Amino acid sequence: MVENESNSEKGHITEQPITLHNWYHHVNWLSTTLILIVPIFGCIAIPFTPLKLPTAIWAIIYYFWTGLGITAGYHRLWSHRSYEAGLPLRVFLACAGGGSVQGSIRFWSAKHRAHHRWTDTVKDPYSVRKGLIYSHLMWMVLKQNPKEKGRTDISDLNHDPVVVWQHKNYVSFILVFGILFPMLVAGFGWGDWKGGLLYSGVLRFFFVQQATFCVNSLAHWLGDQPFDDRNSPRDHVITALVTLGEGYHNFHHEFPSDYRNAIQWWQYDPTKWSIWVWKQLGLASNLKQFRANEIEKGRVQQLQKKVDQKRARLDWGTPLEELPVISWDDFVSDAQSGKALIAIAGVIHDVTRFIKDHPGGRTLISSGIGKDATALFNGGVYNHSNAAHNLLSSMRVGVIRGGGEVEIWRGRGMKRQDVTDV
Ligand SMILES: [Zn+2]
Ligand SMILES: [Zn+2]
Repeated sequence: MVENESNSEKGHITEQPITLHNWYHHVNWLSTTLILIVPIFGCIAIPFTPLKLPTAIWAIIYYFWTGLGITAGYHRLWSHRSYEAGLPLRVFLACAGGGSVQGSIRFWSAKHRAHHRWTDTVKDPYSVRKGLIYSHLMWMVLKQNPKEKGRTDISDLNHDPVVVWQHKNYVSFILVFGILFPMLVAGFGWGDWKGGLLYSGVLRFFFVQQATFCVNSLAHWLGDQPFDDRNSPRDHVITALVTLGEGYHNFHHEFPSDYRNAIQWWQYDPTKWSIWVWKQLGLASNLKQFRANEIEKGRVQQLQKKVDQKRARLDWGTPLEELPVISWDDFVSDAQSGKALIAIAGVIHDVTRFIKDHPGGRTLISSGIGKDATALFNGGVYNHSNAAHNLLSSMRVGVIRGGGEVEIWRGRGMKRQDVTDV
């Protein structure tokens, strides 16, 4: 009671710096127990618990099983509604997801919807902008400031009886599907009660937790951004391998209601394969997919953006609109007084420093000095390469007055690349 009053006077605990005296007030002890303290005790128990082969195989199977509860259930079904599932599949996924000990569907999906809606901002519950470790783990270890909570609509989840049932009985789900069920299988199956508890129970859910956390950390830190680079999500095969196919995260943030994360058949996305199989079995329906045309539009726009950025870093010569206008007579007299000036397509080029490097020899290029060499340059003597055109642009120093179409282009405000293309 007293503590509440002092809290309200000072504001929320998260608004106070962490010190030696108050650090334990900052810790979310329930989450920390489930994701760190219990797994640490599990690791300590390893030397005292021999790992039997059937238990190891069962732990791996149950790892995939409960992992799918998160990726196909919590994430693609409940957070994003990327497909519809009948009651049997929803119950299966609620139990499997509960066995991975990551909170209820309702809690998990609300956070995840906030993550998509407020990506990389203070309202993103696991923003990678607060640091890789924060996005992976610390956002659960430390209490979060309620003022920074990103609100989202989860009314659809409140109308799903499976979600409500799981949320109300969540502690039982942890005990039954996180611990008891995997232990009972190993115990009744081949007599390994202790190994079942440790390897297929505690350490297995520790690995599933860490794999899921990698979607929040690694998938926002490692890899490419083929669809949009304004925010942090990235695509990488390593993240996909760790997370049952959730590693194509740049695509996922662009097209979140697509039931796929990997769109190529050869990319690793067992979650997508499972949903597809469930559809064949009649357990799932209405698998949502963005049109390939829309996906390619995003990819091409991002490519264009990269090309434009590269283009802007290169020297394309002085823009035509910034060049001085020079009369033909002045051009000729300047050339006669020793400047190596050549007119091509109405633009004057100073080739002084290039004469000795001209691949066609000094004589040919010198023959164009003080003249209109348009025809010579464009095929009269040699049809110059694109590289030559680019190089020529970097030597331009003026525009001939009334000397051709270029001045007209200038007057119309056309850009240099329009002229280069011509
Ligand atoms: Zn994300
Ligand atoms: Zn998502």
